[in-house]
This record gives sequence, structure tokens and C-alpha cells, in this order.
Amino acid sequence: MKNFLLLAIAPAIVACGGRESKPAIASDKQLEQRVEQVLERLTLDEKIGQMTEMAIDVLGGFDTNGEYVVDDEKLRLVINQYKVGSILNAPAHALTRENWQKVIGRIQEASIETMGVPTIYGLDEIHGTTYVLGGTMFPQPINVGASFNRELARESARITAYETRAANVPWTYSPTVDMARDPRWPRVWENYGEDVLVNAVMGAETVLGYQGDDPNNIPADRIAATVKHYFGYGVPRTGKDRTPAYISPADLREKYFEPFRACVEAGALSIMVNSGSINGVPVHADRELLTVWLKEQLGWDGMVVTDWNDINNLYTREKVATDKKDAIRIAINAGIDMAMEPYDLTFCTLLRELVDEGAVPMSRIDDAVRRVLRLKFRLNLFDAPVTPIEDYPLFGGPEHAAVALAAAEESIVLLKNKSSFLPLAAGTRLLVTGPNAHSMRSLNGGWSYSWQGNLAGLFTEQYNTIYEALADKFGAAAVRLEQGVTYKEDGAYHEENEPEIERAVAAARNVDVIVACIGENSYCETPGNLSDLALSENQARLVKALAATGKPLVLVLNGGRPRLIADIEPLAEAVVNVLLPGNYGGEALANILAGDVNPSARMPYSYPRHSAELTTYDYRVSEQTEAVVSVQWPFGHGLSYTTFEYSNFQTTTPSFAAGDDLHFFVDVTNTGSRAGKEAVMLFSRDMVASLVPEGRRLRAFEKVELQPGETRTVELKIRAADLAFVGTDGHWTLEQGDFRMQTGNQTLMIACNRTHRWDSPNR
Ligand code: BGC
Repeated sequence: MKNFLLLAIAPAIVACGGRESKPAIASDKQLEQRVEQVLERLTLDEKIGQMTEMAIDVLGGFDTNGEYVVDDEKLRLVINQYKVGSILNAPAHALTRENWQKVIGRIQEASIETMGVPTIYGLDEIHGTTYVLGGTMFPQPINVGASFNRELARESARITAYETRAANVPWTYSPTVDMARDPRWPRVWENYGEDVLVNAVMGAETVLGYQGDDPNNIPADRIAATVKHYFGYGVPRTGKDRTPAYISPADLREKYFEPFRACVEAGALSIMVNSGSINGVPVHADRELLTVWLKEQLGWDGMVVTDWNDINNLYTREKVATDKKDAIRIAINAGIDMAMEPYDLTFCTLLRELVDEGAVPMSRIDDAVRRVLRLKFRLNLFDAPVTPIEDYPLFGGPEHAAVALAAAEESIVLLKNKSSFLPLAAGTRLLVTGPNAHSMRSLNGGWSYSWQGNLAGLFTEQYNTIYEALADKFGAAAVRLEQGVTYKEDGAYHEENEPEIERAVAAARNVDVIVACIGENSYCETPGNLSDLALSENQARLVKALAATGKPLVLVLNGGRPRLIADIEPLAEAVVNVLLPGNYGGEALANILAGDVNPSARMPYSYPRHSAELTTYDYRVSEQTEAVVSVQWPFGHGLSYTTFEYSNFQTTTPSFAAGDDLHFFVDVTNTGSRAGKEAVMLFSRDMVASLVPEGRRLRAFEKVELQPGETRTVELKIRAADLAFVGTDGHWTLEQGDFRMQTGNQTLMIACNRTHRWDSPNR
């Protein structure tokens, strides 16, 4: 339960608690007829109920056995009386699938009985079964970005969908494609990194993994995706969650909208809105972005849901509305289809008044309800409102675990490896130290069993922390744990206990190598805000004291965002960034440190070196003034235990026009002695443009596996239109002139032979 938001609730609370304008999803005629039939028979109150989403807390509570039970009286109020059509969230923490089956089964029964329309239940299954006990937890999206492996993105989502359905839940609030472009922001790790293309590709793969490839017929082992948070949420000027962003109109269209467009094109059935404002306009109030860009220009017939409490925020926080009723009027007219209220049923009565008074037209209500009903039909909830446990025998099983482990292994980034210090030989004696050395909570991050991830320790007994996995791998007798610094588990995420650095230093005496596991504890959303990007003082002191012993040091970074380590990085022989690898992260790291797995991930964001030099790799060329902006590790950086050489970079399209496809070929050779995977990336640079061009933009990537000595010709294909940018007039433009293409250490020049400006707002 989101306690901090609950505190802020007003007294009126329920007491208990593409392309062009081609339609993004081809609608199905029969399905549309059924939508119309239901719409016709619904009363206005029932329609408004369909537009309302309440949190599960309003329906029940835990009994003395720790089981969540629905209270009949509350059910009558919410479903029978107010006709609420959607419920979300987990109560306090994850439930067993048996418990979910009962809870949702009960709500479903009441919904169908009362109005003949099934409810739609939604959960934040952010990296696997966040809220279903015993399910499979995958690495967080930031790791998926780092893997540069699109198949893993799709497969993880497919399994998550299957296991979520085993709990009777048909809808999730994922993927997140806001992009991690400000390292201060506490939601960096929920995204696929800082790059537009990586977010677009991984977001679309995730949508396909959740939904399958026919969005009109979601099968019983798939779920509906919600792409969030539409859009521009990830670059608040303050770096703090849910604060205003200021984005140029050109960047809005070219960068921030693009991953959402890609997900819509992949068939995404719903979209959740950015809680903040862009250029002074709260997105929940922005008709241009919600209705014109998304629904009209993309021809998208999916459903727009608010984020948590965000209609209320229009008057309580953003001050663009005088009161709740005014806020509802603004948001619904702007294009909101469903309000994640989530506690106050007066939403229903106030919206009814607005309709009666003519302040919200009936046509807008019907449009919103059509979108909700369409989603329910697409999920086949009318014909199969529940999905029984027995249909999902693979839930939490070894096949799914194997994918989660592989995903973790492919998402761990080897950042530094002085003189091939890693891998470590069998029998190496290790001191495992630091606050992240022995914590399932920090391996998983937020959205893990509970919102803040703080309860992960209660449900992860069967998985290995880094220390446990290293003890398994190198032998218990050879591996010692002395943390030196620990987090205060009942405090704010950044609080630490009194350090015991001397104990760790003493323990280093009889080992060969020190593995210092540092970073952050888990957090989520606003409680994860920070005021200093540096690594905690205790942790930096610990590393310095350990380095002073003269024993070689491996730094393991584990956290949701990059924390500055410029002062301690030189003390380490090797640095490995595990990001947030999930329940199999300890094992994956041990496999990499021992050399059983060859690392192949790349940094999905620019790792900053200095607090006043925060940048993304795709900065505009003139941002490099007298000195080069210095980063600790650039976007795309990642080492392997083998070496790859690039040669023979060629194109068949050295001169092109806007409608062309461009083909590039490069030979990649594994020149080392181990098999390895390489993420081959294609970057472009527009040499001269009427808007200051970026130094580099990623245009394509492909992950390949090569045996020692093997050479593969990798083809990277893009559309010429991919090289276009959005000009000050808001239109995509491809300008005549030269582009420098780059992959590995290879470059070549190509030229656009005629300027083209797209008339419609999307290419
Ligand atoms: C978050 C969303 C989440 C929603 C529902 C909000 O506070 O911003 O990402 O999907 O809650 O739990």
C-alpha cells in the first residue's frame, strides 16, 4: 500500500479505505458490435463506473491467518452501488496466487452479477511477478536495456504474463519507456536506459511478450500492457519525482513521444499518463497530447488511464483546477478514459453532475467507456472472466527460472577489468563486504513483493544473495562475509547503521581478493528522491579503508541509478555493475566472476563522473565547449572476457532519399579465446543540420554470439526516415547532406540527396 499517498487523502475518502495516421490496431468488426451492444444498455452511472478504478484497500483487509479477504459490505458499496469497473494494486505486499484467485474471483462475480460487465484488475508486475508470491522475478527493465537482447525482453514479458494470469490478473502497468535521462531521478531503473531507440525497441518487445501479436484477441496466457508514463516524465528539472519538466516541442515529438509510438504500433492496449507537467501544463490536463497526438494522430483506439490519484493532483498540487469537480472536468475532457482514483467514490457522483450540467459531453463519456469495454473484450473477459490456477502448471518453475538467470547474466555490465584481473581462479579466497553483499532486497530493487521492495527479504529465502552465491561457487570455506556498512532496513532507503569498517578491514587479512558490494538500497517513486548523487560517505570510507590493506579490490555496483564513485574507482582492479538483476542476480554475478559466463551487457545510460556534469550520450555537438564533458563510463560501454574486432564496414546505399531502406554490413570477429556475445551498435551523426545536431544517435543494434576465431557479417538495416529529426515547425525533416555512420571503430559517410519534410506529424 502506498502509505505516503494515503496520508494525503482528503476526508471524503471511502472510510474503509506508426506511422502516419494508419490505425495502430486494426479494430475487429464483431468486437466493435459487442462493444456497442453493451454500451447501449449501460446506464450513465454504470458508464461512469466503468471509468473508475479503485485500490484494493477499499474492498477488504487481511484476516488473522494473513489471508486477504473481501468484505461483502464494502463490495456492495463499491461494485453494486457505485458500479466501479476496475480495481488495482496489492494490499501491503504480494499475495499467493490462491489468495488472488479468491479475491479477484469474488470481485468478478459481483461485477458480472450487478452489471453484466466484468471487472478489470491491474497489477504493477514490473519485473516479473512483483505481486504474486512464488512467481518468477526477472531483472528490472534497466537490466533488460543493458542486455541489448530483444528476445530476452520479449520472453521475460511472456513468462510474466503467463504467471500473472495464474493469479487471475489480466492487466499490468508496464512497460515504462520514460527513458532514464536524468541520473538523479528515482525511477531511472524502471526504464530501459537513456536512449530513445533502446526504449522503443525494448518497450515494443515487452508489449508483444505480454500481449502476443494479436491485440484484438489476447489469449488466456497473456495480459494487456500499459505503456507509461505518457510522457516526458523522466526529465524533471529538479531531478525529483513528479515535478515539472521543460522540454522543447521538437524534442517532445522526436525523443519523448517516440517510444510510446513504437509501443502503440506493437499493439499496446492501454497507456498511463505522466503525473507531472510539461512546459507548465499537467499532462493529465493536456488535450493536445492525450487526444490529438495519441488518439487522433496515431489513430489509437486503446484506453488512457491516469496515474495514482492524479486527477486530484490537478487541484491539490498543480493548481490548475479550483476543486475536485473542476479537476475531473478538465481531465476527462482532455482525454482521460479511466481514473485511478483510487480511494474516493465521489469521483463518480461529481462526474455524473458534470455530465448532467453539460460540462462533460455525453460523447466523451461514450468514447471513454467504449475504450474500456473494448479492452475488456480484447482480453476476452466477458466470455472467460477468470483464469484458473490449474491452467498454469509452469508457474514459478525451473523453465522460467532458467530464463530469469540467463537474463540476469546477460544484463550485468563489466565496466573495468585491469590487466584481465577477472575472472577469478577457483579456490580464490574472498572477503565479500559492503551493504549490498547479503541482501535480496537490494538485488531486486523497488516493485518487488512490495511497492518499495523493502519486504523482499521475507519472501526470498530460497534465493541467493551475492555472498551466498559466491560461497556456493568458490566454496564456503574460501568466502567470508563482513559487511562493514549495512542499511537500516526499517528506515528511509538511504539510511545506514553505524558502520563497522574496522571489522571488514580485519577480515580482509586472510583473503586474496575483496569483493565490495556497494550502491543503494531499494526504493520506488518519490520516497527514492535524493539530494546528493555521490555514493554514501560510509560506503566510500569502507572502500578506501579496504583498498589501504593492499588486497586487490573488485567493486560490485548494485542500485537503481548511478552514484558517483570517481574517488574510489581508481582503487579497484575491476568494476562490475549488476544494476538490479533480481532473484538470480547473485548466481549470475558468481558465474561471471568465476568465468563460467562471459559478460556481454553494455551501459544503458551514461554513468556520470562529476556531479555538475550530467549528460546523455546524444548531447548536441555544441555542448562540448572548451573541455570534453567527462563521464565515468559512456552509454554503450561494456567489456567482455574475449575481444571483438570490427572490419569491412560497408553500405549498399551511400546516397539515398527519404523513402529508402539503408543497409549496412560489418564483419565482427571474436579475436579472443572464449565464446562471447557482442552487442553490435550502429550510430549516426548528421554532419550539418538546421537544428544543432547531436554528436551521435543509436540507430540499430543486434546482439550476436561468436565462437573464438569466428567472423560474422552483421547486417544492420534502418529506414532513411530514421535519420530525420523534428524541426522547429514540429515536422519530421530529413535534410540533404552528409551523415557519418559508425559501428565499433569503423566509420563511413553516406549522403541524403534531397531534403524531405513529412506533412503529417508522424513519419
Ligand atoms: C506509479 C505508477 C503505477 C501506479 C499504480 C503510481 O504511483 O507512478 O507507475 O503503475 O502507481 O500502482
